[in-house]
Amino acid sequence: MAGPSAVRVVWIYPDLLSTYGDQGNALIMAYRARLRGHTVERVDVRSDQPIPAQADVYLIGGGEDRPQRLAAERLRKDDGLARGLEAGAAALAVCAGFQLFGHSFYDDEQGTLPGLGLLDVTSKRGTVRCVGEVVGDVDESLNVGGRPLPRMTGFENHMGTTEVGPAARPLSRVSAGNGNGAGSGADGAHQGRIVGTYLHGPVLARNPALADLILGWVDGDPKATPTDDTWPNRLRAERLA
Ligand code: GLN
Repeated sequence: MAGPSAVRVVWIYPDLLSTYGDQGNALIMAYRARLRGHTVERVDVRSDQPIPAQADVYLIGGGEDRPQRLAAERLRKDDGLARGLEAGAAALAVCAGFQLFGHSFYDDEQGTLPGLGLLDVTSKRGTVRCVGEVVGDVDESLNVGGRPLPRMTGFENHMGTTEVGPAARPLSRVSAGNGNGAGSGADGAHQGRIVGTYLHGPVLARNPALADLILGWVDGDPKATPTDDTWPNRLRAERLA
């Protein structure tokens, strides 16, 4: 962590990758980090700025093909993110961000393009657009305060499909919606301290336990954030219904 109890949240390229309220992930992450007793420094890094290697959590969101391609071009020339992750930072990558964290992804104009190779996943172009609500049961190897994470819900809108390689594990087993692609039965991936998902919502507003999981990696205290989650739980109940 940046200081004795300071958590540095770096949001990558809000000018390119921020569909469906992905900024909410930065807000929830910072909010819950404060409730855990940390001061929070949020750094929004635009696509013409270098990515700081000093970070506790990186956030990257979704986007259309063109901004996704531009983001990948810039990120391939900037080793700040890779250095930060190597030094122990965590990351949450959503949709386009998830795809470009992998080995390669598909762009309508330029075909298969290299990703960052930070996650052992490979994305291709699917045959149908996956749009709608998703429900998934989170991989049991992940837990917060010794308890498995509750069911995830979110909103998806993507053409890409993603295959998870042996070094990563799917984030959830999907029971409604598509996630990594129709018939894949899974959404997202996790590997070390990196979590990737197709879920918007924003995903941390709808699944605050995921923020707690990541913050537990950051502060070394794998606990649920002490807070009253009545409102998030009402939202969850409504979405799950
Ligand atoms: N452009 C990517 C796709 O369509 C990601 C979309 C998104 O981030 N919502 O697959």
